[in-house]
Amino acid sequence: MYLIFFFFFQELHAHLSGSISDETILKLLGTKDASLSEDIIEEMKSILKMKDKRSLEECFKIFSLLHTLTNSISNIKTCTYDVIKEFSEDNVWYLELRSTPKNVIGSYTKEDYIKAVLETVREAEKSFGIIVRILISIDRSRGVEDAWDTLKIVKELRNNVVYKKYIRGIDVSGNPSKESLLEYLPILREVREMELKLAVHLLELCESVAFEEAAEIFSEGLVDRIGHGTFLNQKLSGKTSHLVNVVLERKIPLEICITSNIKCGTVKDLASHHVNWWKNKDHPIAICTDDKGVFSTTLSDEICLYCKAVDGDIQDVMDMISTSIEASFLDENEKAGFKTANF
Ligand code: 5GP
Repeated sequence: MYLIFFFFFQELHAHLSGSISDETILKLLGTKDASLSEDIIEEMKSILKMKDKRSLEECFKIFSLLHTLTNSISNIKTCTYDVIKEFSEDNVWYLELRSTPKNVIGSYTKEDYIKAVLETVREAEKSFGIIVRILISIDRSRGVEDAWDTLKIVKELRNNVVYKKYIRGIDVSGNPSKESLLEYLPILREVREMELKLAVHLLELCESVAFEEAAEIFSEGLVDRIGHGTFLNQKLSGKTSHLVNVVLERKIPLEICITSNIKCGTVKDLASHHVNWWKNKDHPIAICTDDKGVFSTTLSDEICLYCKAVDGDIQDVMDMISTSIEASFLDENEKAGFKTANF
């Protein structure tokens, strides 16, 4: 299986803050930033020690803590640079990195945040020979007004050809137990109008509201890729949802993050992971890390887990790489270039 290290990988589902490594966290804690209180530093150090199982709710507490680290433009740049470097060291050739623009009063605006990420991406591409594209995240727990504000900034930035080249799409993420995605439908329609690609975290929880949200989003054909889709093929009140057939028929690719699902407890173990079900249906999937820092993983580890889960071989890895290039938000010429490079 070590042969997989001869491949170049694509990472399609990586959240910037969740991808920050322990090394970068320790580096930033060591800079004695005056705005980081002793309590926060102690809390950060204690989360570095607990890398095993934690609930999805606990993960969202960790994300808030990680956000205190990106409290300056300089820290945002350090985190972005280090995350890209670490992916490139793991043979990732193409990275779609997603992040939620934030503002810190007196320090930076959402626009500054996005520009800092994009400028660092350009620099890191040159340093590491990797290709990086950005998805701007909408965090469903921040409310619809915040999402409209983000979209307005994205629209303005895309008037600049360089920023346009890098911002390929929108991701909808955030705590799935907060706010209904039904509230966000006008925003998703606007994303379509802007001709941006759209990846949405769907069915991370097995609740009827999660099926309702997904049903609306599919009925309007709004989504290009599904984040997790953990319970899509599961039964709710003893019945399998018709949505699974919609996804199969339309071949909407799934972004699968095995370690994340198991550590958050939304999937019991590798043997029961839904990746096997989708693979048996020959459905397009992309194996991804989600939050390589929070879950202590790498893309090559995830691909090894994939092989274990589906009892796969090198051909299965090649097929998965090929479908994930197809599922990427690159344009058709760029995709063709990637395929030639790998096969
Ligand atoms: P950031 O957007 O700050 O760069 O990355 C962290 C954010 O990504 C979290 O606050 C959360 O909104 C989102 N995120 C990371 N992992 C997950 C996940 O597994 N599920 C969902 N729904 N959102 C996630």
